[in-house]
Amino acid sequence: MDNEHSSQQTTCMDDYDPNSLLVDEALQRIKDNITSITENEELPIRDALNRVLAETIKSSINVPPYTNSAMDGYAIRGADSPKEGNQSFRLSATVMAGKPIDQTIVFGECARIMTGAKMPDGTDTVIMQEHVSVDGNNIIIGDQHKPGQNVRHAGEDIALGQTVLDKGKRLTPADLGLLASLGIAKVSVSRNVRVAFFSTGDELVSVGKPLEEGQIYDSNRYTLYAMLQRFGAEIIDLGVIKDDKQSIENAFVSAAQKADVLITTGGVSVGDADYVKETLEKLGNVNFWKIAMKPGRPLAFGNINKCMFFGLPGNPVSTMVTFYQFVLPALKKLQGVLEIPPVTLQIRCTTSLRKVAGRIEYQRGIMEQTENGELVVTAVRGQGSHILSSMSKANCFIILPMECESLESGRIVTVQPFAGLI
Ligand code: AMP
Ligand code: MG
Repeated sequence: MDNEHSSQQTTCMDDYDPNSLLVDEALQRIKDNITSITENEELPIRDALNRVLAETIKSSINVPPYTNSAMDGYAIRGADSPKEGNQSFRLSATVMAGKPIDQTIVFGECARIMTGAKMPDGTDTVIMQEHVSVDGNNIIIGDQHKPGQNVRHAGEDIALGQTVLDKGKRLTPADLGLLASLGIAKVSVSRNVRVAFFSTGDELVSVGKPLEEGQIYDSNRYTLYAMLQRFGAEIIDLGVIKDDKQSIENAFVSAAQKADVLITTGGVSVGDADYVKETLEKLGNVNFWKIAMKPGRPLAFGNINKCMFFGLPGNPVSTMVTFYQFVLPALKKLQGVLEIPPVTLQIRCTTSLRKVAGRIEYQRGIMEQTENGELVVTAVRGQGSHILSSMSKANCFIILPMECESLESGRIVTVQPFAGLI
């Protein structure tokens, strides 16, 4: 397997591992191995919120469908509005929204018109009612008006035939409204990806049971569940599997039959009970299993037949970081989501940061605005990969490049807000 990164100048304090793959290369390899789901389903638009469009939507109508008034006021022919001084217009019709009229408005006439009402023939300009004075059946209009004002033109929002939503768009509340404004009741969306996961570890207990000496509660199945739920996957929770070769093998086989993706946590390192990589080698293919990142160096990626496989490290923070950085982009591609790369910002860090060169580090940070409006980041205390409370307190990753070493406070760093991740 070709997974060496180019040799680096190293020091005795560095963290280089020549067998680790660079983060970008790992991501590329993952993406190269994925083809998007092609099975679709048709759903009423309300049920399609957060789903991914499997078709490009073009408009079969103009929006708005007809030229209409943007104000409550009086419709006139713009060319007739006075150049100097006031002029009187005879009120010859009233047009309400939803009640268009047949009458043509001629020179010297105006029509009372409501917001959203269709402009009558002969008119192209609306004078706000607050800007006129009424004299019996005559409306007095001044010379401060521009021809064409206060009118919304047919097709101004969306023109007939225009592409409105691209295939791969994850549907938002605005999109649902947009589809409705085009009269579209149903859309074709890609079926949700099916993701199975299980935790490995003899020490793990599920919530609801008492802890015995030497045991801990399994938290990874809950963070994974939550991240997958937010993504919109169909979830298959296979529970906790003991550190036993046969049990792990059985779970692999059963998951690979049901799911598009299998995610495991724990047992992927080089300890005596770490059977995940070995099982993947036996039942499928290992593409890579080590990445030059912290937290999360051991991360097995491969496949069992058609099922994509991610063996995430067991430490709770490592599980989350590797999910966000690798599994999530993979799921997006598999689901057919148009890729919008997560946003990163360059902002000042108010704390010093400890780091050795050799791995990209994803530290946990809290982004906030100072009194004078500057956006700054503070590193969360407790950056160990077992300290899940650091993820709970944080709202962003502070991404420190491979070569970067410890930084004093006040330096500009790259942050990736959690909010943009799912
Ligand atoms: P492992 O990768 O199996 O060596 O696990 C690394 C560390 O993460 C160990 O301290 C485990 O106890 C812990 N760990 C593994 N899986 C979980 C889990 N599902 N929930 C909480 N901690 C875990
Ligand atoms: Mg373990």
